[in-house]
Amino acid sequence: MKDKKITTDILIQHRMIEKLSGMNESLSEEIEIRIKAEEDLLLHQQNLKQLIREQTVKLEQKNTELISRNNELEQASNELNKALKQEKHLRRMKSHFVSVTSHQFRTPLAIIQSNSDLLNIIADKSGPKTKERLKRYTGYISNEIVRMTELMDDVLLLGKVSTSSMTVLKTRHNIIRLITEIALQFKDIQQDGRTLEIETSGQKRDFQIDIKLMHHALSNIIGNAFKYSKLRNPHIHIDYQENSVCMSIRDFGIGIPNEELDNLFQPFYRAKNTEGIPGSGLGLAISKEYIELNGGKITVESKLKVGSCFFIHIPYS
Ligand code: ADP
Repeated sequence: MKDKKITTDILIQHRMIEKLSGMNESLSEEIEIRIKAEEDLLLHQQNLKQLIREQTVKLEQKNTELISRNNELEQASNELNKALKQEKHLRRMKSHFVSVTSHQFRTPLAIIQSNSDLLNIIADKSGPKTKERLKRYTGYISNEIVRMTELMDDVLLLGKVSTSSMTVLKTRHNIIRLITEIALQFKDIQQDGRTLEIETSGQKRDFQIDIKLMHHALSNIIGNAFKYSKLRNPHIHIDYQENSVCMSIRDFGIGIPNEELDNLFQPFYRAKNTEGIPGSGLGLAISKEYIELNGGKITVESKLKVGSCFFIHIPYS
């Protein structure tokens, strides 16, 4: 009986040992897996640290590059500002010089004109042959004085525009009234009897413009349409569009060589087909500035020996 109990105990102990050794095995497996996982984690951590180190170096490099770029840009901007200041100073000096010399010219011109007037008085008292010759010469002198005065006025105006010392005073206006007024002025002085034809389309509207500047610009462009054409009347079409008015001033004259169209609005530029036609090449440059001061823009289309058309767009407000 006692022996049987001992055997049973041994059996139980044996089974327990077996169970414990099974548990031990699975525990060691788990420990191995954990150790492996920890090793992997460590490796990942090391890789990550290496990656961060590399990225930090790259970022530092980029940062240094950006700082030096920024310094370069700052330097360039400083130089540009300096150049701009110099340019403004030069412009002011140029404009001052032009204005002073223009005024200086006026006195000798006035003296020439008064001497020419004296010659006219002498001419009136002379015999017909001398009178005719003297009148012709004084006529030349007066024409040249007018031309010189106009040129000086234009140079002065352009100087004013380029130094931005032009005041723009916009008020409400009816453009058709302005065009009719200009057309009448040209009718009076046009010796060949030509007139400006006016056509309108769209819903008529008033708009905000500096009337003096627009009068000057339009007179110059309409004047050119008469000056650079013969026989046929120049034509203006005033088209009231949705946000702006478009005025197209068309003539059927000498036209402009295609390759010269881009330079036309440069001061003193005259196309090569204008020989024998008086002009200074300043009118369009001034007109363009005046139109832009009114918020508008001007473009041109032309065909040599067929005619030209200048398009002026002015917004309503
Ligand atoms: P100007 O008529 O005094 O020479 P502008 O500045 O008014 O000066 O015009 C510049 C140039 O543009 C002119 O010399 C001429 O070559 C050209 N031009 C302007 N308007 C016309 C036109 N309607 N037809 C042909 N050429 C023109």
